[in-house]
Amino acid sequence: MKEKRIFNFNAGPAALPLPVLEEIREEFLNYKGSGMSILEVSHRSKWFDDVINEAVERTKRLLRLGDNFKVLFIQGGASMQFCMIPMNLALPGRPVDYINTGTWSTKAIKEAQIQGKDVRVIASSEDKNFSYIPKEYKVTEGASYLHFTSNNTIKGTQWHEFPQAGDVPLVSDMSSDIMSKPFDVSPFGLIYAGAQKNIGPSGSALVIIREDMLERVPQELPTMLKYTTFAEKNSMFNTPACFVIYVISLVLKWLEETIGGLENMEKINKEKAELLYQCIDSSDFYAGTAEKESRSLMNVTFRLPSEELEAKFVAEALENDLGGLKGHRSVGGCRASIYNATTLEAVRSLVDFMKEFERKNG
Ligand SMILES: *Cc1c(COP(=O)(O)O)cnc(C)c1O
Repeated sequence: MKEKRIFNFNAGPAALPLPVLEEIREEFLNYKGSGMSILEVSHRSKWFDDVINEAVERTKRLLRLGDNFKVLFIQGGASMQFCMIPMNLALPGRPVDYINTGTWSTKAIKEAQIQGKDVRVIASSEDKNFSYIPKEYKVTEGASYLHFTSNNTIKGTQWHEFPQAGDVPLVSDMSSDIMSKPFDVSPFGLIYAGAQKNIGPSGSALVIIREDMLERVPQELPTMLKYTTFAEKNSMFNTPACFVIYVISLVLKWLEETIGGLENMEKINKEKAELLYQCIDSSDFYAGTAEKESRSLMNVTFRLPSEELEAKFVAEALENDLGGLKGHRSVGGCRASIYNATTLEAVRSLVDFMKEFERKNG
């Protein structure tokens, strides 16, 4: 067994802040004097009530959400949201707009099409293998919403300025960059994020929904597929993913109290990404795969001169306690995911390794 922890660059499930893991361990067998683990207490108990309320309140404070936003936790990860969004938010006789920037957008589009919605893909970067964020698009007048993926985990691109859609509410899959920086929530009707990239363990999504969107939810939907069910019962119509929500509450506490909020988090994230991109740009050995102005601060994707060298790079990195650097199986290459919990120290260590690897193999 490995004695020490490695620097974890996994794309998801991904690194969690060490102080959070330590806090979980600390109170694992006896949660706040209950004599039980948080895994064993009732979701109807005061202990869990405090946990979920804290997760909601911290989300509201960190993102500066007005009282017109509801914070929900819904099982099924981000992928469940691909189907719930058109099911709940498509207005009768009105189209739904999507921008396609990669694998996850494509899946979201497919789920709306399966339901027979009038899907308009108003922009796509598929022509260049999703290596950039499209600038040209025209939002359909009267569209129910405009859906986009704020950070493309697999392709390594990110929206640095969100699309403008006027009166059409924005809906965004922020799975891989939620809580990585502050932003203005007012144009959004719904924001969702699978928890396992930036805020916790896998299995559930954080869903932030503007109250007026709840009026759209069709009566005839199955109970567990309606946003209103989750909104009316503080996400506890049935037993929620208690442990996931507990860990999220601790990660958000770490963000507020240790990091000091999203402005600080953004500064650190920028510093990490700059270190890596500088290393890539100053070498002829490594090549970034995303267009420069669309580059992600969360997922840094790059290639080496050959697939053999890439395999060697990933293997030798792991021998040096740098894990998770293989690109997504659909695209190959290498990827360093540097979410909130990945430290500057981890990134510095990776950059040192990359320089040394280039020196030996370049
Ligand atoms: C990982 C990811 C998903 C899928 O999340 P699941 O929780 O596995 O459904 C969706 N969208 C984006 C942007 C992702 O990074």
